[in-house]
Amino acid sequence: MEQTLVLIKPDGIQQKVVGKIIGRFEDAGLKVVGMKMVWPDEGKAREHYPLDEEWAEAAFGKTKESAEKNNEKFDFKDSMEFGKFVQDGLVDFIQENPIVALVLEGTHAIEIVRKMVGSTEPRSATPGTIRADFASVESYPNANNQGRAVRNLIHASDSADNAKKEIKTWFDEGEVHDYKRPGDEKIFG
Ligand code: ADP
Repeated sequence: MEQTLVLIKPDGIQQKVVGKIIGRFEDAGLKVVGMKMVWPDEGKAREHYPLDEEWAEAAFGKTKESAEKNNEKFDFKDSMEFGKFVQDGLVDFIQENPIVALVLEGTHAIEIVRKMVGSTEPRSATPGTIRADFASVESYPNANNQGRAVRNLIHASDSADNAKKEIKTWFDEGEVHDYKRPGDEKIFG
């Protein structure tokens, strides 16, 4: 059994799709075991989005590859400089208004949630994923030309270690619940 952290970012609240997004996770069989609305301050934002070298390299690589494929401008040369640009954008973005933090539970929850959320850039996310269905017009060039973070509705933990760390960032012990739904035993034993 796994738990994963999901944040519905400020654009999800602005677009009034919080209910629809939570509904998709419930429809998929995931159990909501933690849920709250939080207005992050800068400290919380930086705790959630630390400037990590490995992450900066991966984000730099994804964005560069997309720019090359689409013949678009990409001016950054250094992954850490790029990482700092994205991190600063994210820290501003996530403080725009309150967000919704969720802990979702289920077997393979991390993998399933990442699949339902879709790829980082909504423009290239597969139709049927949350980022494609509710934010398709958003793209790397839109964000980069305006000097801001990609507005893609959701954060979802990408590994078991990060899920543990991120759940701790947003939830105190006692705010994540242990309960059974009718029928759970048929699937989970
Ligand atoms: P994901 O959220 O899909 O796991 P990353 O961990 O690579 O993606 O990036 C974290 C967040 O940073 C993204 O969800 C997005 O909001 C923002 N982001 C990523 N790449 C860029 C970029 N090239 N320009 C602006 N913002 C970006």
